[in-house]
Amino acid sequence: MGLNEKPMHELIRLLSVKEITIREIIRDLYRAIEERETDVRAYLELSDPDALLKEAERAKDLPLKGIPIAVKDLISTTGFRNTCGSQFLRDFRPTFDATAILKLKAAGATILGKTNLDEFGMGSSTENSGFFPTQNPFDLERVPGGSSGGSAAAVAAASAICALGTDTGGSIRLPAAFCGVVGVKPTYGLVSRYGLVAYASSLDQIGPLTRDVRDAALLLSIVAGHDPADSTSAAQGNVDYTQGLEAELKGIRIGIVKEFVETLSGKASALSKKWQEQFQQLGARFEEISLPHSKYAIPTYYLISAAEASANLARYDGVRFGHRESDESVLTMYALSRDAGFGVEVKRRIMLGTYGLSAGYADEWYKKAQGVRALITQDFQRAFQSVDVIMTPTSPTPAFKLGEKIDDPLAMYLTDQFLVPASLAQLCAISIPAGQIDHLPFGLQLIGDRFQELNLLHAAFAFEQAWS
Ligand code: GLN
Repeated sequence: MGLNEKPMHELIRLLSVKEITIREIIRDLYRAIEERETDVRAYLELSDPDALLKEAERAKDLPLKGIPIAVKDLISTTGFRNTCGSQFLRDFRPTFDATAILKLKAAGATILGKTNLDEFGMGSSTENSGFFPTQNPFDLERVPGGSSGGSAAAVAAASAICALGTDTGGSIRLPAAFCGVVGVKPTYGLVSRYGLVAYASSLDQIGPLTRDVRDAALLLSIVAGHDPADSTSAAQGNVDYTQGLEAELKGIRIGIVKEFVETLSGKASALSKKWQEQFQQLGARFEEISLPHSKYAIPTYYLISAAEASANLARYDGVRFGHRESDESVLTMYALSRDAGFGVEVKRRIMLGTYGLSAGYADEWYKKAQGVRALITQDFQRAFQSVDVIMTPTSPTPAFKLGEKIDDPLAMYLTDQFLVPASLAQLCAISIPAGQIDHLPFGLQLIGDRFQELNLLHAAFAFEQAWS
């Protein structure tokens, strides 16, 4: 087994006892990248291996010992472009590091490269990248999920040890599930959004994509915590999320969502019964819960996220940064630059969002969606009075084929149906690999109440250890 296939916590241990060197880790990583990258295409930009090694050697006395981490190309990282998967920003070089990146570097991580994504995070398959689609390492004819598809595919192909992604409405959890890796969407406000290019600011969160739950807990412990540079950052974090992972699970109450169960395919339902048995053997108790407003989650999410996106993306006008098409007059320049720089899906979202917010329509669309968001949040609050975590499949099906849904935006949006309710309610959630359907990885999602990451990771860890 190459060192690139091992989890980060194991590599840290081996480095500490001097059984391996960081040079060997980097060598194995680049070997895998050489072998897999032409097919998988997870990266938009890679570090130079010699420069990376030098940096890693400088970090050898810090907790992460120089271990290279892949970063979604939506998070500002000095030394790399930050394209956001968009032609608009294909040459954009950020001048500062996001807080999450600063924290990683301070803990001794190095940056391996920037990973592919759906443009500005808008998509569920990475096919909306303005550069090229990423392929699923398990089956190159299939999508890796999105929008953090490059990060998930890199970890799954062992061309990264772990990665950062971002999740607005499922973009860490879905690719984690499709690629058979672990992905955590932290509670809104737990990880600073400073330096994360905004898609939908009331939903966006940075989180880890890793080989196992312990690595996810480790990375989360590093990137979480209050940041005065982000006004929505919570006074939370500074917690070691790896603590207590091994404790017994006994007594945990797990909710099963009545409305979701009714929609499951035969195969997904059979697998989720097995998950339930596994958790019961670990001492968990199950309870059926109801999230009656979750059936409105997809329209609510796609209205609110598009509305916020239309406002956030107004800054790309060809003036300050990014693509500039013509300068005949200011208005033509805006129009031509935006037309040439943005892809089809981004334009669709901007138009939907602008419509939903426009005078005369905002009450009917945007304000109504905000009302439904409050109802969805209340459903969860009620549920968390009787259960500790909620279990669902991460997605209705395993990874679909490239091209299968690209011309049908509604079918694409429905991929997120089990994911967006927790996003709207700003809760924490994790996807862990839990069996296969049709020989493809299938993910189990656990949703926890706000800032209950310790509980969530504890349950996920216990399951991961027991499940075979
Ligand atoms: N698929 C969803 C969307 O397109 C989620 C994206 C995300 O979480 N960034 O909006």
